[in-house]
Amino acid sequence: MDCPVCHGTCITDATDLLLSVPSIFAPCPRCRTTVLDKERPPPSRPPKEPCSCGRRYIDEVFLDLYRVFRDEGTFTGKEPLRAVGSPLLHPGFPMKGPPFIGERRMVLLSRDVNQEAAIRAIDEIPEIKGVVKTGPFVPGLGPGGRPVTYRLLSGCDVRADLFFSTAGPVAVYKQQSRLHIEFPRTRHEKGERLLSQLSTGRYRSIADLCSGAGTLGLIATRTGVRHAILNDAWYAAAFWSGLNMEINQAFFATDPVKVLFSYEDLKKRNASEGSVKVAESNGSQKIEVWMGDYSTLAREGHAPAGCLGILDLFDKCDMQKIRLFEGEWKRLTGGEVFIP
Ligand SMILES: [Zn+2]
Ligand SMILES: [Zn+2]
Repeated sequence: MDCPVCHGTCITDATDLLLSVPSIFAPCPRCRTTVLDKERPPPSRPPKEPCSCGRRYIDEVFLDLYRVFRDEGTFTGKEPLRAVGSPLLHPGFPMKGPPFIGERRMVLLSRDVNQEAAIRAIDEIPEIKGVVKTGPFVPGLGPGGRPVTYRLLSGCDVRADLFFSTAGPVAVYKQQSRLHIEFPRTRHEKGERLLSQLSTGRYRSIADLCSGAGTLGLIATRTGVRHAILNDAWYAAAFWSGLNMEINQAFFATDPVKVLFSYEDLKKRNASEGSVKVAESNGSQKIEVWMGDYSTLAREGHAPAGCLGILDLFDKCDMQKIRLFEGEWKRLTGGEVFIP
């Protein structure tokens, strides 16, 4: 499948990703572990080369990044090793120990990195897939609906997280500079609360109203619910929700998922223009992905009768707004609203 960011081969089926889990970040018998103190500047020795198996212990990859950061003036040499940034692996999943990282398996998120260091990191460090400069905010629609994103400085920042729920695993791809970070834990708390709600069996349809990259909606769809709707006002969330339905298709009783917009075309749309369908599929399970404000999905008649609305807002503080929405959802669809 074509990657919408680099047009390379970043994106594979969920089943292929899941097969890679046991071995992808495990050492071979020749791999060496050298643990470095993350709270101090690292030793001035050069980083060790990757093992003949192509993998390298994470601390050596960090040492290599530190070398580039110091050469390019991002660091003075007094910063602790940890200051390099947050390593996001591809694919990400709960691991028992530190990873041994293979070629193009790590996206680095860093507050401090400059353009020159980011380009050298991609050119000189085989494990690095992409370098993203972060900021003190969550990417998405900011105050007043203004888009805010991190900056991809080099490489490609498309990667997947794997979530294991009692309904089965799902793979969730995203462009990391455009969507918030989800840390895969052994237990997906919100997913399990949702599954427990769905286990009563009274819901034929669900709508994940602020779907992000689609994690909760995908977990719900794995239960075999007849009609699943994913919705988000942020173009990147809606696009990746659609693509993730396609990636995980093998787990659903549905026809091939059709993604109806390119990433670039969706980016040009404004959620205030009204909801637009981004992806769909029919079969025993019907799947739809919409881009639009969560409050307009039912108003525009896109939510079926009795649909369970799943509302996972970043900001849950405005209870009055949530109660008003609940009342309206019930009036328009006859369904409940579930806050995971
Ligand atoms: Zn890519
Ligand atoms: Zn090895």
